[in-house]
Amino acid sequence: MNKYLLFTPGPVNVAENVRMAICKEDICHREADFDHLLQSIENKLLKIFEIKNSADYRAVVITGSGTAANESILSSVVGNKNILIISNGEFGERLYNISNIHNKNTFLLEFTWGKSFDLGKIEAYLKKHKIDVVAMVHHETSSGMLNPLEKMGALSKENGALFIVDCVSSAGAEVIDMEKCHISFCSSSSSKAICSYSGLSFVVGKKEEFEKLKNLPVKTTYLNLYTFYDFIKNYSQTPNTPAVHLFYALEQALVNILTTGVYNHYVELKDKANFSREGMLNLGLKFLLDEKNMCSVLTTVHIPSHIDVTVFRQKLREKSIIIYEGKGCFKNKVFQVGNIGELSFANIQFFLDSLENVLLSFEDVKIKRTHLIKGNKPMVVLANATRKNALLPAAS
Ligand SMILES: *Cc1c(COP(=O)(O)O)cnc(C)c1O
Repeated sequence: MNKYLLFTPGPVNVAENVRMAICKEDICHREADFDHLLQSIENKLLKIFEIKNSADYRAVVITGSGTAANESILSSVVGNKNILIISNGEFGERLYNISNIHNKNTFLLEFTWGKSFDLGKIEAYLKKHKIDVVAMVHHETSSGMLNPLEKMGALSKENGALFIVDCVSSAGAEVIDMEKCHISFCSSSSSKAICSYSGLSFVVGKKEEFEKLKNLPVKTTYLNLYTFYDFIKNYSQTPNTPAVHLFYALEQALVNILTTGVYNHYVELKDKANFSREGMLNLGLKFLLDEKNMCSVLTTVHIPSHIDVTVFRQKLREKSIIIYEGKGCFKNKVFQVGNIGELSFANIQFFLDSLENVLLSFEDVKIKRTHLIKGNKPMVVLANATRKNALLPAAS
């Protein structure tokens, strides 16, 4: 059915029943059919987040990718107050850039990409400055780093700040205990570990915090978070025309996770991540992060120095495998391998076998490089020679 196996952090290969769901009947979003669909999705989202006091939380669904949910939160909850973004990667920077457009008092505390937050520095910053809202990314997808929710939630609470979190790539893969971590709002999307099509995102938040948004300045109309809350609360609908068929698909993807069991779903992803990682380590590859800091969605791998990443990706694509390139300072330094969506252990084994072949296909380049680096005479590669005999000193 699928031409490509998507070993990416999203979009993902969807389950067959999710693919079928998108072809369901046409309904009007101002009719009871849609109200029921949205209610059902909301209930399931709250279950995925394992919220114990479900009367205290609501979830709104936005037509738009994960960035729409992030922009909705950042444009709607800060008002004229001070927001601090804590960043250690591409997606933290994006939160900062979005917030900067909507909030003139946006501050940034930046850590090296691929390195853990310095909690001491964050605490000192919060003690010294009046910060009303703290925002961060849970799983920094650009490196694969899982940032500390519980500690950051406690620090925010201690310092009287609202805590908001981008959970776009962690929801559905890692435990996100909103109550324990004092999270007021978090965002996610349909197309990462939730395993549906791209195009929908959602915000889960505390009811009392949603209510407070009513009195804040309106900075956007389409993405105004209070409007979404108002519509779901009063009509069980969305403010504007939603992508109805994507809602059917999202509903089915959530049913799939809940049928497996949320915890079992996490364990399955972790097992797949471990299987993929063990295979890559056996091929002699090295990872950007310590495994203890990694999320179970993907693995970020150093590109061996003799390999051109564009050629490498192309060779894998010829075997129907799609992987990701590094962003920002990781460009041309790493590649990323996801393990979410409909990827079986057999698919991962196929990936590992293909990866081994592709890596071997670069061996000639590696041998040539090694000789050059050792300061030997320039080498020439003889066409059609076997690998062992391929390199001979050039005639001088
Ligand atoms: C993918 C991602 C986003 C952006 O999502 P889009 O669906 O591309 O808009 C935001 N934050 C994180 C952490 C992500 O991984």
